[in-house]
Amino acid sequence: MCGTRRWPITEGSLKNGGWAAADKETLIQPKYPNIVCWAMVAGLPTSKTGAAIRIQAPIAAANLIALMEGKEPAESTMGTPRARS
Ligand SMILES: Cc1cc2nc3c(=O)[nH]c(=O)nc-3n(C[C@H](O)[C@H](O)[C@H](O)COP(=O)(O)OP(=O)(O)OC[C@H]3O[C@@H](n4cnc5c(N)ncnc54)[C@H](O)[C@@H]3O)c2cc1C
Repeated sequence: MCGTRRWPITEGSLKNGGWAAADKETLIQPKYPNIVCWAMVAGLPTSKTGAAIRIQAPIAAANLIALMEGKEPAESTMGTPRARS
């Protein structure tokens, strides 16, 4: 977790709380697109619970793999693959 430490990847109204900024659909950090933020550490408009994290985990993994392969992130927390929405 980021805790109260200010990391360069935190921003916005959640900055002082130490949450890492993340796109709410792709979970990718807006300024640093090689970073995927999810679960307790991420500044997402979801509950900080296992239930929310269970949804985020496969999306984060798939999009991280896509980034590593030089592809566009295709998965979205909105429920439909981003490329087809
Ligand atoms: C008391 C309590 C009860 C809860 N009950 C529920 C519940 O009933 N249902 C539910 O869905 N959710 C519940 N939650 C929330 C749930 O526990 C969290 O949403 C979930 O654990 C967050 O997962 P995470 O992987 O993001 O973070 P964490 O589970 O906190 O994992 C982070 C890991 O990173 C490690 N770490 C930290 N700093 C470093 C470092 N510098 N280097 C290496 N490792 C590091 C930590 O040791 C830890 O293992 C509860 C939380 C609490 C506190």
